Formats: sequence, C-alpha cells, structure tokens
Amino acid sequence: MDIETWKNNLRMTLDLETAKPAHEASIASKARALSKAVRLRYHDRRIRSHNLHEKGKIACYMSLEFLMGKSLRNHLHALGSDTKALVAELVEEIYQVSIEELYEFEPDAGLGNGGLGRLAACFMDASATTGVPLRGYGLRYEMGMFSQKFENGFQVEVGDDWLKDGDLWGQRVEEETVIVDFKDVFLKAVPYDYIVPGYQVDNVNRLRLWKAEAVNDFDFRKFNEFDYIGAVEDRELAANITRVLYPNDERREGKVLRFMQQYFFAQATIRDLMRQGGIEHRDLKTLKNIISIQLNDTHPVIGIPEAVRILTEELGFAFEDAIDAVESIFSYTNHTILQEAMEKWHRNILDEVCPDTMKVIERMDAHYVEHLRIRGYDNDRIERMRILRHDTVYMAHLGILASHTVNGVAELHSRILRDTELADFSDFDPNKFTNVTNGITPRRFFMLANPEMAKAVDRWIGNGWRKNFNEIEKLKALADDAEVLSEFAEIKKKNKRHLAERIRKEYGIVVDPDSIFDIQIKRIHEYKRQLMYAFYVHHLYARIKADPHAPFTPRTCIFGGKSATGYHRAKAIIKYINELARVVNADPDADGKLKVVFIEDYNVSWAEHLVAAADVSEQISTAGKEASGTGNMKFMMNGTVTLGTMDGANIEIFEEAGIDNNYVFGATVEELRAAEYDPHALYARDSLVKEAVDSLTGTYLDDGGSFKFLDLYRALMDNQWGRDDEYYILYDLRSYIETQDRIERDFSDKAAWNKKSFLNMAASAKFTADRTILEYAERIWHIEPKVL
Ligand SMILES: *Cc1c(COP(=O)(O)O)cnc(C)c1O
Repeated sequence: MDIETWKNNLRMTLDLETAKPAHEASIASKARALSKAVRLRYHDRRIRSHNLHEKGKIACYMSLEFLMGKSLRNHLHALGSDTKALVAELVEEIYQVSIEELYEFEPDAGLGNGGLGRLAACFMDASATTGVPLRGYGLRYEMGMFSQKFENGFQVEVGDDWLKDGDLWGQRVEEETVIVDFKDVFLKAVPYDYIVPGYQVDNVNRLRLWKAEAVNDFDFRKFNEFDYIGAVEDRELAANITRVLYPNDERREGKVLRFMQQYFFAQATIRDLMRQGGIEHRDLKTLKNIISIQLNDTHPVIGIPEAVRILTEELGFAFEDAIDAVESIFSYTNHTILQEAMEKWHRNILDEVCPDTMKVIERMDAHYVEHLRIRGYDNDRIERMRILRHDTVYMAHLGILASHTVNGVAELHSRILRDTELADFSDFDPNKFTNVTNGITPRRFFMLANPEMAKAVDRWIGNGWRKNFNEIEKLKALADDAEVLSEFAEIKKKNKRHLAERIRKEYGIVVDPDSIFDIQIKRIHEYKRQLMYAFYVHHLYARIKADPHAPFTPRTCIFGGKSATGYHRAKAIIKYINELARVVNADPDADGKLKVVFIEDYNVSWAEHLVAAADVSEQISTAGKEASGTGNMKFMMNGTVTLGTMDGANIEIFEEAGIDNNYVFGATVEELRAAEYDPHALYARDSLVKEAVDSLTGTYLDDGGSFKFLDLYRALMDNQWGRDDEYYILYDLRSYIETQDRIERDFSDKAAWNKKSFLNMAASAKFTADRTILEYAERIWHIEPKVL
C-alpha cells in the first residue's frame, strides 16, 4: 500500500470522526480515526484469510478472558517497520499529534484477570503468525479488570471504563447476531470482531466477543400499564450479563450472574459455530473434520452439554451420537490444582438459568456412570469421578469426561494432574492426558517491549529469528564475545534508566539504575508468596539499620499486582509492602541503598515496560502450586536471571538455560510432601524466621488499625481455617534469603552476571507461543497451519 493511499485513508477516517480541523480535534477522535485507517489496511487480508481458512478445519478457543492490552502499536508493527515508520510520520503531519501520544492514549483492553487471560491473547497472536486457523471467542465486558489505586497503602478498586472513548478496534457485526434463550427470556448476542494480525505474514485471525442486548429494549404494553420498571426489564438484564468481568481470580464468587455469563457465552458461541458448520445437514461423525474446540479452563465447559442439547433437542440427533460428537471435538485445558478454584455449581442455579441443559447434564452423568461401572469401579470411586454429586455439578469432571484431550500447562503441572489430582481419571483413560507447556508472544513481549535489544539481535545473528524464533539459539555461540556482552549490558542499562524515569514521573521515587532491579509482578496470592520477598526487603532494611556503614549492594525492589476484591489476606500483603516502602524510602540511612516501589495498577502495558528492565525475576511460588507461569518466560526472553522455586515452567526454564545461570532455591514438591513441619519450632530455632514474623507484630510497620498485619501473623502462626504457614513461606525463607545474598555477591562480577543473563535470552526459544500453538494444532486439534 503506498503513501498516497495511507494519506487518503487517514484524512478520510478523521473527516468521518470529526468536523473539526486536525489541530482542534480531540485526541480520542484521532485515535478512533487512526484505528479505522489501520483496519482498512487489513481489510483485504481479512477476506483472503477468511477464504483460505473457511475450506479447511478450524479451531476455536473458548475463553471467558482475553487480556489483550493495547493494539495500535502491535498492529502497526505486524505490518513491518517501514510501514510503522511511515504511519508515524503521516500521523504527525496530518493529525498533528505524535504516534507516541496515541500509543499512550489507547486504553488497555483488560478483559481478563492474569496469566490465563493473557495466555489466550498470546495464542491469538501466535496462531495468526504461524497460520493456524484459530478463532477466539469471548465476552465483550463493558468493564474490564478494575484499575487499582492505593489510598494510604490500601488497595482501592476503580471501575475500568475502557470503552468510554469508543471501541477502537471492535467491529459490530449486526447481521451475525445470535438469539440466546434462557429459561424465561430471550436475549441477543451481538458479535464484535477484533482483528488479530500475524507478524510479517498476510494472515489475519479473528477474535469474536459477544455483547448481550435485549431483543426488545422496550415493552410498550407494560409501559402503558404503568409498569415502568417491567418495561425495560429485558434491557437491564441484558446489560448486566456483559457488564463486568468477574474479578474473582481463583476464588469462587458471584453466583447466578456469573453462571449466566458462562451460559450466555456458551450458547452464543455454539450456535455461531453450528451455523457456520451447516451442521444440521451433516453426519455427526464428520464434525471433527471441520472443527476443534479448546476450552480455556472450566469457565466455558457448560458449552459441552449445551452442544449436546442443541444437537439433540433442536437438530434431532440421537443422544449417543451427540455425545460421541462432542467427545470428538472438545478438549480442555486445566490451569490450576488449587482446590478453591475447582469450579462447581449447585444445580439450583442451573435449574433456574438453563433447565434443559441441566437435564442434559443429568443424562450425561448417567451415561458416564454407566461407563465407570462397566470398568468395575466401586461406588466410592464412581462418586469421586461423576459429574453430578449431591446436587452439585463438577465442571472439571464434565470437561474431562466429555473431552478427547485434557492438558496441563507445564511438565510438572501435567505430571501432578496425571499422578495425583486427576489420577482417577488418568487411570480410566491414560491416553487422554497430555502436556502443552505455555508460551508467550515474542512480538509483544520482546520485539515491542525491548526494541533496542531486538535491533541488536538483528546485528548479532541476522533477523531470521523474527520469523522463526528458534534462531534465537544462535546467540548461544556469542556468549563469550566481550563486545556483544557489553552491548547487551548497555541496552539493559538503558532500559533500566527508562524505567527509572517512568517511576520518578509516576511516583516521585528516585531509583538508581545501577542498583539491582529485582522485580515481582503478578496477581497477589498467598501461594505466589509476595510476602516472602517482602520479608527479604525487611531483612535488608534491618541489616542497614543495624550497621548503616556496612557495605551494601544497592537494590531496587519492585512489586506489582492486584488482589482479588474480596481476598483480604492478599490485600493485607499489599498493605505490608506499601508500608515497607513508606518507611524505607523515607529513611536517609537507606538512601542510595534500598528503594521499594509498588507499581500501581499492574497490567499488560506495565508488563511490557518492566520485563525489559529487570536484573532478577522473582518466581517464588510454593512448589506444586504455580501451574506454569508466563511472567517467568517474559523476563527470561529479555535476558533476566530467574530467582525461583522448582515449580511450573521455572523447571523448564532452568532446564533450557542451565541451573548455574539461574538461582534455584526452596523445597521441591516431593520434599514438601514428605516434610513434617512445625512453624513454631522453626520460629524458635531460626533467627531469620523470627525476624520476619516479628515484623508483623512489632510497631515500626503500621497497618492503620486495620488488624491486617495480625491476620498475616495468624496465617503463619495461628491459622483458624487451615494449617499454619500453609504456603511454606517460613519453611523456605532461609534458603530464599541465602540465595538472595548469593545474588548480591554475584551481581558485582559484571562480566559473569551479564553472561548468565544473556544465556537466558539465548535459551528462550522453547517459550515462544508459536511453539505452543503448533503443538496444540498438531497434537490436539489435528490442523495443518496454512500461512498466507
Ligand atoms: C504475564 C502476565 C500475568 C501472568 O504472570 P505470572 O507471573 O505468570 O502469574 C499476569 N498479568 C499480566 C498483566 C501479565 O502480563
């Protein structure tokens, strides 16, 4: 596309947005105009991709969460650097605004909680790039993940009105609206389509998000009979269904409305797919030749019985044939073994929302119970495995029994599923279980997050790695090249300076770019053990206070992450860190040595800023609890050493980059299983443990009378609801602190440190989502990629 076309399109789209001349037009109208011009640029590719993929088999990724972040820079980047530079220039000239300002202006699309939602977003990007025909399906929430603010160090949640200046990228497709029926109301599901461009290929995939609307906005008859509320009832109900993303990360909450979201999503998506497949005219046995459906955790699992219901009740197929058909097309990804995240619903709720689907679940339960009996299992075992028990529907059991494949998201996680958590099921059907280790997109999290490094990599090994990320391995041969390493270190330093500048602007905290940038960014959760890192900060501060003149390697401790709204203990951890930050940052003794920064409102855009500027990546979950992690991969790919436990994908990171190039500590899953552990005995015997615990009950940190620190103390030493120190924070503390101290010593040997960091970047090939998505395509969906 030539310059003239871009010029014309940019002028035209701005004219359509505003009658004002460019210098008077609002930035919002310029952002809307630019996104339309970019979409125009992709128009032809969308049609060609559609035509290419329509004939073959497609896969569908069903997810209640898509954590997309911003799109403008990504969509320009996918067109290549020449186009990106050209558009930047034309925007400056025609719109009289810098492209950087427009990048900043665009809100994050935060329609997800954390890793699970970001994985869905990375998969869309990777599938478009590798030519895997993958359609994303989700909900278009009016309000995404809340914005986090701190008031006196406490988390306060603010609604995320991401659509207030219009939907920059969504395209309403009125004519593909689907009618969804609930027990006593019909609603419209209106699709909004988002382009997902492949990088330096013509391929474009599609993300379709549903918006709920009333079929009849306004009931004139009711209004006329003075029933003013009843007259808009449907509209209000519809508005509520796609009003908010449930911010209950790994905690069950909200009842009926949350389930209505899932059911609405499932029915709309299944209807859309069946319409496109022309299913009523097919032999169900051939369904698997045209479609594969991946369920991202249990949230969309209700789609399975819903598909059976539609096939039998609406399309007249036999029940057994419908079951065979769903088993041939659905596969399910498990994301966690935390018991509180195992989704289950009381049947009352299903009877209220979708009684016919509930009846199908009962039939499916009977069907699988029969199969389990034939295998000769006793009643206890059958009760443990069945879908419906004591009037409760177990979504994971439904997902496992009715899918052809169940996967975990890292080797260790998949092994724990197979051997422990889901042993009953894997023994019943061993071939069903597999592993597909997660990945991240190197476009967003390396090329865009770290453009200088990407350019340097081009110089070092050529630019083939941009299209085939496996070539990043070529860097390994350069790990002893002093010039390369010093260039690497220079770029890292520059990234740290940029981050320092951002931190100064946002929070007024001055941090030293020469200090160790030690970063932990992820949802706040007890199992992720932010508290353990905070205890180390406390330990460092105590060391400074004990002897302000002792030598000290300067360190900047950076935290970021949100707590679920109702997760009081996670909120207590946030307060504890913020309180440490307040005390440490104000103390002249700590000046030039220690700074503590809690990034407010951690999101995808913050992740992009942070991962390129880290020296240490904190991945310190209790062994066995973090299914995979993907934050760990973002840091590694940008040349950062991991300080981590033998958990999730950390293990595979250590395997790829070498234990000696990382910092491994703490008990393994096996050791924890075998451990006989009494935190009180440990407290009595280990001074480091005592120092940490006492900081919760002492006076120098103040929880503002909220008793939050007492609650943290109780979680460790006096737990009412579970075991003391359930997440083994104190158990691993000494090993953690000693390893941190080793980092402190090693950091001063710059050459050795740089080499370790560099080797992590060089060994990160495995963690591209391109590899992950090709594994799903080959081993689970049985789809050949086709690149346009
Ligand atoms: C990558 C990412 C996550 C996942 O981080 P983990 O460390 O794997 O838990 C969560 N939130 C955001 C915004 C991310 O970009």
